[in-house]
Amino acid sequence: MKRFVAVTICSLAGLSLVFAEKPVKVDLLISAAHVVTMDKDLRLYEPGAVAISGSRIVAVGPRVEVSARVRATRSTDLGNRWVMPGLINTHTHIPMNLMRGLGDDLELMEWLTKYIFPLEAKVVDARYVYEASLAGCAELISRGVTTAVDMYYFEDEVARAVREAGLRGWLGQTLIDFKAPDFATPEAALEYTEKCMVKWAADPLVKVIPAPHSGYTCSPETLRRSVALARKLRLPMTTHLSESANEVADIQKKYGLSPVRHMAGLGILGPDVLAAHCVQLTEEDLRVLKETGTAVAHNPDSNLKLASGIAPVVAMRRLGIRVGLGTDGSVSSNRLDMFHAMDLAAKIHKLRENDAAVLKAAEAVRMATSEAAAALGAESAIGSLEEGKQADLIVLDLDTPLAQPVFNVYSHLVYVAHGESVESTMVAGRWLMKNRKLTTIQASRLKEIYQRYGRLMTASLEKTQ
Ligand SMILES: [Zn+2]
Repeated sequence: MKRFVAVTICSLAGLSLVFAEKPVKVDLLISAAHVVTMDKDLRLYEPGAVAISGSRIVAVGPRVEVSARVRATRSTDLGNRWVMPGLINTHTHIPMNLMRGLGDDLELMEWLTKYIFPLEAKVVDARYVYEASLAGCAELISRGVTTAVDMYYFEDEVARAVREAGLRGWLGQTLIDFKAPDFATPEAALEYTEKCMVKWAADPLVKVIPAPHSGYTCSPETLRRSVALARKLRLPMTTHLSESANEVADIQKKYGLSPVRHMAGLGILGPDVLAAHCVQLTEEDLRVLKETGTAVAHNPDSNLKLASGIAPVVAMRRLGIRVGLGTDGSVSSNRLDMFHAMDLAAKIHKLRENDAAVLKAAEAVRMATSEAAAALGAESAIGSLEEGKQADLIVLDLDTPLAQPVFNVYSHLVYVAHGESVESTMVAGRWLMKNRKLTTIQASRLKEIYQRYGRLMTASLEKTQ
């Protein structure tokens, strides 16, 4: 951790500006007591400043130096606030936002087959997906998430909502071998996926990608065709992998292999694949993930709640496997709070490894920012506050008795802060929430959505029971 207090040496990011003859014109200069960059060297500026033009960061560094070098159209002094990169949620199901609290306290397979799949068959249509996605985006923005990796049905509707909300997203269209709420066959879903991928390919914030649900719900043919589509259009792919002991037993029985080796044998795994969970792994599986360069989305809250197990994240990261944090959907995780995910990740691995020093707070923050960006292959654009990167940042209010005094910013971010600490959220230079007020989604619209679907789903559940 490199801590820069007041006027010390200038940042590398600011160097290009130090020698400039004239102040550089920028759109916005934000200064705050703590600027946590999450760059490779974990530079901290206290106080610090971030200069932004358009969607990009122009300079980051000590406040005195950055403000002397730029001429800003607007300046915002945030006083005691903290500024850090926006959080990257590497695995969620945004439209499940309105199903929170349904079918709690069940084991994964029972929860999926007896509860979630039948309920989805009844209530999920294009309109539900769009409106539930708006609700999900409101939650993500309000808890400091600026990028989300999604997996659901009618993904074009998710894309529409995410775009309207102003978030960044890699949005996975689910491919599955039984009748889904959107398509009866994987062939029809694949055709739709390709159309959506092409439609959103040039969008600066949103991409649609293939998301075969898993090895236990997709045939080898569906898995192969999904990855072939991703590679044809040069986009990543996401899937669930090795989430539970039941999945391992199921795949072993069907194919005589572990889920990881089954997918690897089909040519599915690779650096362009983000595999969610990877809880139940053998040494051989870990080696395969490393050799194929596959990235992992780690969802500690979901894994604990569904009793799936504790993923061997320490071993993965020691091998150089890219691991990003995620929440999973609001039914298996209940809150899309990446601060909660960081807190859990920093603790459960200490327990798993019987070693309190094994995954330090700063490493948990990396898994929600820079390492999550790397897991998406997007580390040159997002994941840290650095010159040239996208202006995806959040402002935290930790000026509370709980977080004072400040000895170690990462400790407070992981063990004290929570989603409600987020005061403002910016994506690509645009505020999506300012002083806790959403700017792109109307509160009245959300209220109407919550009420209407609350009634509809309660009626649907009453009919089921
Ligand atoms: Zn999931």
